[in-house]
Amino acid sequence: MSRSAEFFQRAQSSIPGGVNSPVRAFKQVGGTPVFFERGQGAYLWDADHKQYIDYVGSWGPAILGHADPEVIHAVCDVAKHGLSFGAPTEAEIILAEKVKALVPSIDLVRMVSSGTEATMSAIRIARGYTGRNKLLKFEGCYHGHSDSLLVKAGSGLLTFGEPTSPGVPADFAKHTLVAQFNDLDNVEELFKAHGDDIACVIVEPIAGNMNMITPKPGFLEGLRKLCDDYGSVLIFDEVMTGFRVGLHGAQGLYNITPDLTTLGKVIGGGMPVGAFGGKKEIMEKLSPLGPIYQAGTLSGNPVAMAAGIVTLDKIKAPHFYEKLARKTSRLMQGFQDAATQAGVPLFTRSVGGMFGFFFSDKEINSFQESTACDVERFKKFFHLMLHQGVYLAPASFEAGFVSAAHSDQDIEQTILRAADCFNKLASE
Ligand code: PMP
Repeated sequence: MSRSAEFFQRAQSSIPGGVNSPVRAFKQVGGTPVFFERGQGAYLWDADHKQYIDYVGSWGPAILGHADPEVIHAVCDVAKHGLSFGAPTEAEIILAEKVKALVPSIDLVRMVSSGTEATMSAIRIARGYTGRNKLLKFEGCYHGHSDSLLVKAGSGLLTFGEPTSPGVPADFAKHTLVAQFNDLDNVEELFKAHGDDIACVIVEPIAGNMNMITPKPGFLEGLRKLCDDYGSVLIFDEVMTGFRVGLHGAQGLYNITPDLTTLGKVIGGGMPVGAFGGKKEIMEKLSPLGPIYQAGTLSGNPVAMAAGIVTLDKIKAPHFYEKLARKTSRLMQGFQDAATQAGVPLFTRSVGGMFGFFFSDKEINSFQESTACDVERFKKFFHLMLHQGVYLAPASFEAGFVSAAHSDQDIEQTILRAADCFNKLASE
């Protein structure tokens, strides 16, 4: 028995399902989850000492690769002087200033410890600011696991095929309106029916929780206009896309100014950090300036801030995103060519350091199209790649990530291995 298998068995008697976050359990793809021992750059090593080229990157944070020496040095240095004080430190100001400089729509920003906290708090402040109850989200977009958002949510839930989670009272869920991504008419209909009670629209500007779906031209602009017309707050959930698809996030790429932005993943460089921020007139309603309450014992703790500060400094290096985007698009082009040669229908896409591939012969632009892709083929491909030493997200609805530490050789090596796997799929 492999050590991963042993650990998985052992974990089940003390941790629900053996994991601390459901998608880690390989529920969709089946088999034994890999337990990792260490990471360095583009690589991970499992508990059985097998090496993998990693395209999960801790689900996005590892944009510099694993164990970046400068990040590790900063974290160790700060940790020597205490892990957390529950009182303000200069590091919090430095990270807030860096976020503001990179995301111009943010006047004021508050640090939290996860993406879930960031979106939950952004929704509360939008509701408090507008005095309205309803929020509008998109089917297949995932914004963390707070009650209001576990309404036909994607990510792990989508994998499990559950439209909602038990434990979310119907009274909460009724305030969440669910629209279709890339369908502006649908959003307009909901605004016509409920516009005067819609506090906010929350959207992943590039949806990374139904594989990877980019906004059609005019979609995000349309959301901006509807929010302006009806006095609703537009929230871009950039927990995944922030500092990932470009230095200024998806809002920089598409040139749209949301009222509030949520951040996570890259902003903490691998430490548990999230953030929400935006327009001053909204953010100053937050406690202690205003009446809307939000707090956190470990929020802005110095070790997490240190990792975030170094990470945000390093992504500002000249041509950082050009190089990242070139490698990521080469990876997807390589997958596309290899699949076509093998006769396996595949549709691929990438933006910055984020990518998605669908087992389909069509371009995929909606939740319905994404869920109609060949999941069985994905599962087989995932396991063939895993066997070959390539670690992809263990679910077909998750985007993939390339880091600055992936070399051209890593990318070419991955394409060769993928070609072999596509050939195997085709010959079945
Ligand atoms: N928003 C988005 C867009 C996400 O992808 C995620 C997590 N994958 C979250 C929010 C929730 O973040 P966390 O898991 O840190 O709570």
